[in-house]
Amino acid sequence: MSTPVASTVPFSTPVNEPVPLIDLKPQYQSIKSEVDETVQRVFESQGFVLGEDVSNFEDEVAKYCDSRHAVGCASGTDALILALMALDIGPGDEVITTPFSFFATASCIERVGATPIFVDVKEDSFNINPIAVEAAITPHTKAILPVHLYGQCADMDAISRIAVKHNIAVVEDAAQAIGSEFQGRKAGVLGTIGCFSFFPTKNLGGAGDGGMISTDDPQIAKRIRSLRVHGDAGRYEHLEVGLNSRLDALQAAVLSVKLRHLDTWSAGRQRNASWYRELCDHENLGDIISLPQTLSDRKHVYNQFCVRVGEGLRDQVLNSLREQGIGCAVYYPKPLHLQPCFAHHGYQKGQFPVSEKLSEDIMALPIFAELTRSQIERVVECLAKAVNIARENRNWKTIQKAA
Ligand SMILES: *Cc1c(COP(=O)(O)O)cnc(C)c1O
Repeated sequence: MSTPVASTVPFSTPVNEPVPLIDLKPQYQSIKSEVDETVQRVFESQGFVLGEDVSNFEDEVAKYCDSRHAVGCASGTDALILALMALDIGPGDEVITTPFSFFATASCIERVGATPIFVDVKEDSFNINPIAVEAAITPHTKAILPVHLYGQCADMDAISRIAVKHNIAVVEDAAQAIGSEFQGRKAGVLGTIGCFSFFPTKNLGGAGDGGMISTDDPQIAKRIRSLRVHGDAGRYEHLEVGLNSRLDALQAAVLSVKLRHLDTWSAGRQRNASWYRELCDHENLGDIISLPQTLSDRKHVYNQFCVRVGEGLRDQVLNSLREQGIGCAVYYPKPLHLQPCFAHHGYQKGQFPVSEKLSEDIMALPIFAELTRSQIERVVECLAKAVNIARENRNWKTIQKAA
C-alpha cells in the first residue's frame, strides 16, 4: 500500500541544481517493482485491448470516485467526445464552457458538430462563472461543460442548480482533477458524466494516452461501452457509428498500480503548495506574485500550481526563472475563444476579460509530489530573485518616464 512520499525519494537535491517543472522518473523509481511486474504479466497474457485488466481498473476508479459506472477509453479528449455523443449532442446544440482551459475542453464540442458557447471564469478559482453560465442559457443549450482547472473543482453547487432548473446535462472535464473534492464528493461524480485523462503528466498518469468516463446512469454507461467499439451493439450489429477508443490493458494495469498511491501523491502536492505559501509569504512577494486560492469547500489536488504575476511582468519573471534553471510554463497563453479554429463563432478580444488577463499573467511552478523541501526553497529563492529584477526594471522605467 501507500508509503509516505518522503521515504520513497532516495535523493536529496543539492543546492543550485535545476528544478524541472515535472519529472516523472522519481515516481516510477518509487513503484518500479510493482509496475514492472504488472507490465510483465500483461505481456505474458498477450491481451492488450480491453479485457480483465481494463474492467478491473474501471471498477477501481468507480469505487474510488463513488460512481456507479466507469468506462475506459483512449484519452481524456475521447472521454469528452464520447460523453457528448452519449447525450445525443450534435449540430444545432449549444454547450456552455470556459475559454480558459486546455484546447480539448472546447474542441470536443466542435468535433461532435455542436457549438461551444464560451463564458468567462471567476478570479478566485479560475473556473467557469455560474452567473455567466445562467445568462448564456438558450433553448438550444444541451449541456454545461465545467472544467476543474489545475485540480480544483468549479462551483458545482451553482452549476448543478442551473442544470436542474433548465433540464440540461453537466459534463465535468475532470482531466486535471482526479481525487479532487467538492463538499466532500469527488470530481467526476458531481454532474451527469465525468471525464478523466490519464495523460502521463496528469495526477494519475499512464504510460501513454488513456481516459475514462464516470456516471451513475446505467444507460449512458452502456451506450459509451458501445460507442467506444464502433457503436457495436454486440455480434457486429451497429445501431450507430461510434469511435475506436479503447483503453489498453497495459495502461489499465499500470494505472491500477498507480491508483493505490494517488492519495499519497495528492498529499505530496498539497504539502508542496503549503511550502510555497509559507516561503513566498516570508519573501514578501505579494505586490507582484499572487498564489492560487483554495476555496474552503474544496480539496485542491494541484495538477498545476499556477501563480499570477502582476504588472505585466509575467514573461520577464518566467524568463528569469528559466535562466536560473527553474522549470515553469504558461497554462494557457491563448484563451480558447481567440483560437483561430473558432474564429467563425465571431468572438472578440475583450469579451472575456478575466480569462484574457489570466492568460497574460498566469505561470505554473513545479509541484509534482516527489519534490523535496530544498527544491521548493530553491524555486522560491529564484522566484524572489526574478521578482526583484523585475521590480528594479519597473522602477527604473518609472524613473525614466518621470525624467
Ligand atoms: C489533458 C486535458 C484534456 C485532454 O486529455 P487527453 O488525455 O490529453 O486527451 C482535456 N481537458 C483538460 C482540462 C486537460 O487538462
